[in-house]
Amino acid sequence: GEGLPRPDRTRIIVVANQKGGVGKTTTTVNLAASLALHGNRVLVIDLDPQGNASTALGIDHHAEVPSIYDVLVDSKPLPEIVQPVRDVEGLFCAPATIDLAGAEIELVSLVARESRLQRAINAYEQPLDYIFIDCPPSLGLLTVNALVAGQEVLIPIQCEYYALEGLGQLLRNVELVRGHLNPTLHVSTILLTMYDGRTRLAAQVAEEVRGHFGDEVLRTSIPRSVRISEAPSYGQTVLTYDPGSSGALSYLEAAREIALRGVGVSYDHAHLGAPS
Ligand code: ADP
Ligand code: MG
Repeated sequence: GEGLPRPDRTRIIVVANQKGGVGKTTTTVNLAASLALHGNRVLVIDLDPQGNASTALGIDHHAEVPSIYDVLVDSKPLPEIVQPVRDVEGLFCAPATIDLAGAEIELVSLVARESRLQRAINAYEQPLDYIFIDCPPSLGLLTVNALVAGQEVLIPIQCEYYALEGLGQLLRNVELVRGHLNPTLHVSTILLTMYDGRTRLAAQVAEEVRGHFGDEVLRTSIPRSVRISEAPSYGQTVLTYDPGSSGALSYLEAAREIALRGVGVSYDHAHLGAPS
């Protein structure tokens, strides 16, 4: 397909929201696949012990597989655990296995416990356009490692009651990490997920989120789509499972916005095909 512009240096995007079920993992794998299918080299780091991102990418992550746990706790080099994703050229995954659940505790007693992922990424020499880090639904040491390693935070928000509740805590953590450990970190992107345009509630929440976050909110929102929810059980993203579906097209459009912002092109102009 038509290419998406590549950034001039690796963008590291942390997908976080301590609420579960808001679309973090779905967003991570589908944005990553969209970018890879359009000419980018992309690594997904699965930082959730559930390993849902690994599953959705069709990556073997049974207990004995070398995983991000080994990187964080035993300082195994990242290239020794990264696997290519079948069917998507340029897409790679650092899988999570269930032992990552213990890492939250094991990290506490290790030196540089907040920056172990950052060190592993810094030592990774393969050329990459994007690294997406899929966070667990908590603000513990795993998420802190992601925030220390990243440059951008992407927050998926589900358009339902209490959508903004709890976000204050995440935003405070981002500020804390920015102030003490990682001055480049900032919230760059908000994505509305599972959006049902037929309901007043979704429209109200979307308006509230846009009022609160302004330009950080992508123009594209992701509709509720059965195809999106089916794809992981086939070890696929919706981009390969059903490329023509509304879910696939909306993730591709969101990826285009993210890619264009990264090279400073206005999405409106690019979208209309006009020079910017
Ligand atoms: P999180 O990683 O934040 O816990 P997930 O990405 O796992 O959230 O999504 C939670 C559930 O919602 C999953 O079963 C997923 O398949 C489903 N889901 C996510 N986005 C959509 C969507 N746009 N339409 C339909 N189902 C979705
Ligand atoms: Mg998840």
